[in-house]
Amino acid sequence: MNDLQATIGLETHVQLNTKTKIWCGCPVDPHADPNTCCCPVCLGYPGSLPVLNAEAVRKTVQAGLLLNCEIGLHSKHDRKSYFYPDMPKNYQITQYDQPLCIGGELEVEVNGKSKKVRLNRIHLEEDVGKSTHLRGSSGIDYNRAGTPLMEIVTEPDLHSEDEAMAYLSALKQLLQYGGVSDCNLELGNIRCDVNISVAPKGSDTLGVKAEIKNMNSFRNVHRAIAYEVFRQKKAIAEGTPLVQETRGWDDGQGTTFSMRSKEDAHDYRYFPDPDLCSIVLNEEQVEEIKASLPERPREKRARYIQELGLPAADADVILAEQDVAEFFEAVLPHVQGEAKATANWVMTELMRVLTEKECRPADLPLTPEALAGLIKLVQGKTLNAPKAKEVFAELVEQGGDPKAIVEKRGLAQVSDDSAIDAFVQQVIEANPGPVADVQSGKMQAIQFLMGQVMKLSRGKANPKMVQERLKEMLAPE
Ligand SMILES: [Zn+2]
Repeated sequence: MNDLQATIGLETHVQLNTKTKIWCGCPVDPHADPNTCCCPVCLGYPGSLPVLNAEAVRKTVQAGLLLNCEIGLHSKHDRKSYFYPDMPKNYQITQYDQPLCIGGELEVEVNGKSKKVRLNRIHLEEDVGKSTHLRGSSGIDYNRAGTPLMEIVTEPDLHSEDEAMAYLSALKQLLQYGGVSDCNLELGNIRCDVNISVAPKGSDTLGVKAEIKNMNSFRNVHRAIAYEVFRQKKAIAEGTPLVQETRGWDDGQGTTFSMRSKEDAHDYRYFPDPDLCSIVLNEEQVEEIKASLPERPREKRARYIQELGLPAADADVILAEQDVAEFFEAVLPHVQGEAKATANWVMTELMRVLTEKECRPADLPLTPEALAGLIKLVQGKTLNAPKAKEVFAELVEQGGDPKAIVEKRGLAQVSDDSAIDAFVQQVIEANPGPVADVQSGKMQAIQFLMGQVMKLSRGKANPKMVQERLKEMLAPE
């Protein structure tokens, strides 16, 4: 089985984050009650006429430019004929031979190595409704029908489940930062079909293809590819013929199963939608959109490393979630030159709280300005590290101004020479044993004495000063 290689292509469906649907003015709202965001157009009533949402075109062009696609200046929509209850018109409006974005590529990191994944196209289509199967009955919610949806199709450039994951993660990050989609997997903003075939290594032709449909978690995509590659390799090794088919993923069993033999394009009877005009763009419009593109995650990463001086690992942790990166960047203008200290707070304390509370930065009363204020109190030696964490804990619970919290709770660090000396003196007098140890060269006893001073000062003494003064006062004459 080692002389066989898997080839994988992904078709990723990404919902655009427009306010309204693609052909009508109904709101796109994943939280609305079922069938409350519908009208004759998205319910496919006879005689209703679709009107294209310009914002959906703009966002798809943005995505295309972020992915280095060529933008089709003349594209059109086509009808894909099929009947399924979640598709009330008995055809889906999609694009066929003239998509909005052509070609393109995405550079991804796989196990520390960079790889370019070529794209075939991006087309703009409509999402379908959502079926729910209950015991003894089924329900359909048409709120989702008509949500603008991009289908992003790769060339068969991927060869393992890890490469597929790297591609999906990079795609999600790019589209999220690009402001094109919220890319919320729980809400089904990204769903993925996977094409897999296995052939002898170095072969010019691909093997028999299976398509696994509609997975909405990256973890399941990873598991399904691993299973399907194993299944196909085993069948080839045993001489069992494979058939071109559509397969489903059984999460509980961890296996794929046959659903139906795979349709070819001619089965769908594609034809141009007579109700819609072609989309005609000019170079200036494309250039204007290009000029408005936000910083890509890769560019941000380079800037964090080169301009802010962060280690690459820190940049990756912070950039993994867009709202965390936004919070980080919002702190920076208030803490001149303290990017690393800010990164440390964000990566340790902030991200710990987000995990514990299962929330996002915007859900916390902590503001970027307050974190900046806290960092400055530490840098200015008003607060020591343990007390700063206490203030942080209050900021994430109740918000407020760190300076006011320090004053109210009397947390300010004691850095006053005479006060420190008084604490140290008192501890030396009360602990003759450890003092004698230190004086006879057993320096580990100094940790014990330090602990006593911190306890006496109720945690507020400046630890660095305490250590220095202890060493000085106990130094051999
Ligand atoms: Zn509608």
